[in-house]
Amino acid sequence: MTAPQHHPIVVIGAGIAGATIAREIASRGHAVCIVESAGAPAAGCSNHAYAIAHPHISRGSPKLLQLTRIAFELAYARWGDQWVHRGALQPTKDGIAFDGAVIAQHLTQLGLPTTTAYPVAAEEAEQLSGVPRAGVWFPTAGMLNLEKTTTQLLLPCEQLTQLYHLRIEALHREGDRWLLIDAAKKITISANTVIVAAGLSSKQLLSSIQIKLPLKAVRGQLSFFQINHESSWAARLPSAIICGDGYCIPASQCDKGKMRWIVGSSFDEGEDDLIPRDESDRFNQEQAAGLLNYAVGNLQELVPDGQFVGVRCVAGDRLPIIGALPQRPGVFVATALGSRGILWSALAAKLIADQVLAGDFALLTRLGFTSALAAALAPDRFLAGALPPSLGVLASNSKPILPSESRAR
Ligand SMILES: Cc1cc2nc3c(=O)[nH]c(=O)nc-3n(C[C@H](O)[C@H](O)[C@H](O)COP(=O)(O)OP(=O)(O)OC[C@H]3O[C@@H](n4cnc5c(N)ncnc54)[C@H](O)[C@@H]3O)c2cc1C
Repeated sequence: MTAPQHHPIVVIGAGIAGATIAREIASRGHAVCIVESAGAPAAGCSNHAYAIAHPHISRGSPKLLQLTRIAFELAYARWGDQWVHRGALQPTKDGIAFDGAVIAQHLTQLGLPTTTAYPVAAEEAEQLSGVPRAGVWFPTAGMLNLEKTTTQLLLPCEQLTQLYHLRIEALHREGDRWLLIDAAKKITISANTVIVAAGLSSKQLLSSIQIKLPLKAVRGQLSFFQINHESSWAARLPSAIICGDGYCIPASQCDKGKMRWIVGSSFDEGEDDLIPRDESDRFNQEQAAGLLNYAVGNLQELVPDGQFVGVRCVAGDRLPIIGALPQRPGVFVATALGSRGILWSALAAKLIADQVLAGDFALLTRLGFTSALAAALAPDRFLAGALPPSLGVLASNSKPILPSESRAR
């Protein structure tokens, strides 16, 4: 029997999360091996060409808002020069009067400088986005092709080993090493550190070491609409990203002499099939009308002409799961990225690389990342057992994972 290949650090899953983490570790000069069940990177939810990123300013816990601010800064620093579109408008909700001063104060309280977010009245919003709706303008928000980005992150480099067509079914501890066991029950790899970034499959993988995480599938569909130039929608289509309840990207001319407009996304809890659905297109037509505040628009004129369907992985409390598993020394997790794959991958790469490589957390600390925020992301929050996961992010008897305490090799 041949001995398993040994790699000090192995990342399982070559989606945007695993690829960003592997690249971060390699760029710090450490050897890292990434293992993927498919034949190429971005075969799962990251097979997505139209993902947007901006900090979040409304719904959500204060921790979530702080985390998205920090994560957006990291994502912008990493990928801002690759944004496909630049700038996004988040219109004020219907029925809420726009008050620029109040919004500006709120943005300041969230720690967002005007270079990142500022209030805009309807006239300015129209100039910036083609949509005359007052709200908040994010000048540095953007869109990223996750598939392309994942592939670029994994361009060959000396420190990076890549193994495809290898599905890891289970982990097993032996001495100071983790053994990675494939579908044929063969031990293919051993590692000192294993970073599980396998999306929804992380649940099954971690259950092999008796770690139960409350992960679930949420199917989502983006609709690609075709629109005739004579349609009343044509003159209203945005020239920037619009976000709110759903999102859309700027309309473009398509080769059939029509406009093409991408709008999403549906949200089907607990479902994981990838077959496009008419009902999801109808849902996205409604979202389109909501985003443009055009309730009287004829939805039949938004003609479905293609879709992207993916299955998000979400945790019980809707925050990502990023960090060390203190109960299983050497195992780290980066999953449950939900609808914020760009933001959470950027944050996961810095946090996990600092934890695995005993980094100094200086960048994260400078951005305002605290031990309380680390605890809100840590897998441990679901494992302490004092509170059911849905009640909070940190069970009362679990130890917060202070950055300085969470170093592991
Ligand atoms: C409709 C829709 C719209 C979205 N819009 C946005 C958006 O606007 N902005 C945004 O930031 N995000 C968005 N997202 C979310 C984003 O796509 C995901 O958060 C992100 O792609 C998740 O990346 P991941 O690396 O965690 O998972 P994945 O991309 O699923 O990667 C996991 C990888 O692990 C591999 N794998 C699984 N099990 C194993 C195993 N046992 N052994 C080896 N390999 C394994 C898989 O093959 C896969 O390649 C959207 C998602 C959907 C569905």
